[in-house]
Amino acid sequence: MKLATSSHQKLETFFRELLNDETFRLPVIHFYVGKFTRFFTWIVKVHGITFGCRIYIMPKFLSLNENNQLTLPLKLAAHEITHALQYKREGFIKFFYKYLKSFCGNLRRKKSWDIISRQESYLEIPFEVEAREVSDKFVEWNERNKSIDSI
Ligand SMILES: [Zn+2]
Repeated sequence: MKLATSSHQKLETFFRELLNDETFRLPVIHFYVGKFTRFFTWIVKVHGITFGCRIYIMPKFLSLNENNQLTLPLKLAAHEITHALQYKREGFIKFFYKYLKSFCGNLRRKKSWDIISRQESYLEIPFEVEAREVSDKFVEWNERNKSIDSI
């Protein structure tokens, strides 16, 4: 699935303003919500996971709107799209490497592998901090604009 044109444009406008770059183009983002995604997001205990421009969203976060279109929370979409842009900025391999290195470093400092340490280590990854900040900004920005969240 791809974003509805209106959602794509909205996110593109937001990122243009955020990055202060009139030439910014939001790449085509593919969303996956099938059985594999349900299993995978459940295993790693995340709402969504992004590989390049492919975003896997835990199916329970999707709903149908009045026009029978699948919708996902805008904040989650903005968060995962931020990761897609980080992949582009850093390069696929470099992003992946830095992400895992940061996670493992955070975990090592905590000297524990329990679920709380793993969750904290994940939240402290700079790419995650940035994605949360951007998605919060997007929610604020969107509240000042009209809400279109269908994909
Ligand atoms: Zn994230």
